[in-house]
Amino acid sequence: MGQTMLEDPEVEFDSLVDEEQIEDITVIGAGPAGLFTVFSAGIQEAKCRVIDSMPQVGGQLTALYPEKIIYDVPGFPTVTAKDLVDRLHEQAMQFSPKIHLNETVVNVERLKHRVLQVTTSAGNLYYSRSVIIAAGIGAFSPRVPDEEVFATYGEEQGVYTAVRDKSRFKGRDVVILGGGDSAVDWVLGLAEEANSLAVVHRRNEFRAQGHSVAKMKELAAAGTVRVITPYNYKSIHTDASGHVCAVTVEDKSGEALELKCDRLLCLLGFKNDLGPIVEWDLRFEESSIKVDPDMQTNIPGVFAVGDIAAYPQKIKLILTGFADASIAVQNAIPYIRPGKKASHVFTSVRGLPSGGK
Ligand code: FAD
Repeated sequence: MGQTMLEDPEVEFDSLVDEEQIEDITVIGAGPAGLFTVFSAGIQEAKCRVIDSMPQVGGQLTALYPEKIIYDVPGFPTVTAKDLVDRLHEQAMQFSPKIHLNETVVNVERLKHRVLQVTTSAGNLYYSRSVIIAAGIGAFSPRVPDEEVFATYGEEQGVYTAVRDKSRFKGRDVVILGGGDSAVDWVLGLAEEANSLAVVHRRNEFRAQGHSVAKMKELAAAGTVRVITPYNYKSIHTDASGHVCAVTVEDKSGEALELKCDRLLCLLGFKNDLGPIVEWDLRFEESSIKVDPDMQTNIPGVFAVGDIAAYPQKIKLILTGFADASIAVQNAIPYIRPGKKASHVFTSVRGLPSGGK
């Protein structure tokens, strides 16, 4: 963010950007705090967009502990992280927000006067009257065995870090790298589709649901799947067109195996990184953004909620993120509708605005 971000925005926005292109609120991050921000925006009848670097919504709950049981979300004596994300997603989608996954916000800049321009890693520019940062512990991105080498491979070369369309694996020779829930789930999910399927994990034990591991072992015993442990990725091989054609894996003694494959699926978990956010002109307290009681940062019209927001007595919990979201949206209203104050509404009294189902 440039220094201009700190200027008083109380000036008419110019005609540089078509009015239709401007959202009221852009939410950075679709973790629990971001999803509830989207819902809160809907209640206030604010046009909203949410952007996340991950292929799925849910933040830490999806990336780090989808099957764990959470005990401290009000109203749910117990709920798995995955189920909570599904409910939050359903609640947020009632207002049909624009949702952009697999895009990392790399910059936020104030255009002439009031409009904020949000730039993403995909090269897209989005315009907004306010921005709510719900970036948690940073942008998640899939781990790959070798950052430098894998930077040059993508789906076009047959290297995947998520399954978005199962049909791309149909009739293919698939190698999956990984030993967690998503690796095992996709062994089960692709066993029928693939021509051949091998899973490679660096340990003999898989860190996945016991019943799924048992099913995978049944498939291995039947010869449908090869389970190759304890082996590590060593190198990738490509054909003349640059498409993956094999992968070499090796065990601790250095014994190598070359596995034929035209689909390499890396399901090795995620890494997180605050990345470009720390370079914006925001006031930080350690790795969190300092906010006032209205959840506003030092930059007018830019708010922070959830794990990334720092204020006295902050506890980093899902439920505090929900409260932060509601407060931030209320206080974003004067930026969305200049001269208007946020009106507090009980949804039980007024119901949902017409956008909601
Ligand atoms: P996150 O969940 O971190 O989501 C942030 C999202 O922002 C991510 O999806 C990330 O990809 C995205 N993002 C970041 N930067 C960018 C960018 N520049 N561009 C685009 N996208 C970006 N809390 C509880 O209340 N109860 C529990 O039982 C509990 N158990 C936990 C167990 C574990 C193992 C862990 C790790 C945490 C647990 N927590 C628990 C904490 C809880 O998960 C967090 O408080 C919560 O996820 C914070 O939500 P958030 O939306 O603020 O951020």
